[in-house]
Amino acid sequence: NKAYLEAMEAARGLNAYVLETPEIALERAAESDARIARGEAGALEGLPLGVKDLYCTEGVRTTACSKILGDFTPPYESHVTSLMRSAGAVMLGKLNNDEFAMGSSNETSAFGTPVNPWRRKGSDAKLVAGGSSGGSSAAVAARICLGATATDTGGSIRQPAAFTGTVGVKPTYGRCSRWGIVAFASSLDQAGPIARDVRDAAILMGSMAGYDKRDSTSVDTPVPDYEAAVGRSVKGLRIGVPKEYRVDGMPAEIEKLWSQGAEQLKAAGAEIVEVSLPHTKYALPAYYIVAPAEASSNLARYDGVRYGARVAGRDITEMYENTRAAGFGSEVRRRIMIGAYVLSAGYYDAYYVRAQKVRTLIKQDFETVFAAGVDAILTPATPSAAFGVGEMANASPVEMYLNDVFTVTVNMAGLPGVSVPAGLSAEGLPLALQLIGRPFDEETLFATAAVIE
Ligand code: GLN
Repeated sequence: NKAYLEAMEAARGLNAYVLETPEIALERAAESDARIARGEAGALEGLPLGVKDLYCTEGVRTTACSKILGDFTPPYESHVTSLMRSAGAVMLGKLNNDEFAMGSSNETSAFGTPVNPWRRKGSDAKLVAGGSSGGSSAAVAARICLGATATDTGGSIRQPAAFTGTVGVKPTYGRCSRWGIVAFASSLDQAGPIARDVRDAAILMGSMAGYDKRDSTSVDTPVPDYEAAVGRSVKGLRIGVPKEYRVDGMPAEIEKLWSQGAEQLKAAGAEIVEVSLPHTKYALPAYYIVAPAEASSNLARYDGVRYGARVAGRDITEMYENTRAAGFGSEVRRRIMIGAYVLSAGYYDAYYVRAQKVRTLIKQDFETVFAAGVDAILTPATPSAAFGVGEMANASPVEMYLNDVFTVTVNMAGLPGVSVPAGLSAEGLPLALQLIGRPFDEETLFATAAVIE
């Protein structure tokens, strides 16, 4: 743990951590040593981990990387991080993310943008580490934590993992408790790990998953031994390749990566079948209605009274207005406005209700494919490799949203998905594939991802 703390100091230029907690780390590491000496080691005993700043940590500042939370210090610990702590995990600090997890490049954070440790061949231009969990992916790739917690509402675990050559797991909706995690879009949010390889991700998942009665959408189902699934044979599994993911303008190198991944699975004994998910093209527009709608409602609680920062006004209404105007960044304000609009009386049926119907169709597409005997679905994780810091500054918000084209379907359908490094681009940057599984069958994802990595 001491070596990690030194490495963190040396890598401060990456801006991966928004808060380092060395005293806590050393105290917990000493407790771990004592438990190991007594022969009482837990599954994560002594492991140096980073925590996305969206997870509430007892007595440790939690801001969701938004100015509106100020110095908010929760008196409680999220369910997932308390499970990890009971398993012996050591927290090194809090990791950067897009403000309230809204973004795909971690450029909306109030603490600035974390930097991807990777560079294009022959260039030292700084690249983004993906978003929203860019601090988690940068820190894992730079070896300044062994693994990290992250959250995924539309791709925020899988896309940053893809951009940094790490493994990211978005579990089935309901697998991990959302209790104590700052809410973005409650029907889509899931906790999950970013790790160096599939085995580490499986070990972390084993301690993050589990029923919690404080989250009404948490599902009471046994947590299997995920680590045992790594290295399990994929012989006889049917892997679907959905034709709708072959989008216009897909770079040739991504297409090649995808067929190579299918070949690897085939060589390991799996059967590759073409499948159809006809409503795929509606997933992104529907997501960008449902997610902002839920966000506008969840973010109503930041009123300058209950949490964090307050900006005074002549009366209470003006205080609300001043606080929210000063506290929220521009992307968050855009989402609140879109959300309030699609939920407003005149437009509710035309936008929100319609998006929910589309969501059902997307879910049914997957159900049909799985009912036909497909065990997992293989797709690219992202439409490109990591891009430069600031490169999208003048692009429209929609261009940024297009990063999520392959990942949002999984959240809309509540399914598990994993992003696994599968090769390098011509410019020498990591590229990744995604595997999508049946509800609560993360094990098949660990088995198939291990074949590709
Ligand atoms: N990039 C997506 C968005 O901005 C997903 C974010 C996430 O998964 N938290 O909404």
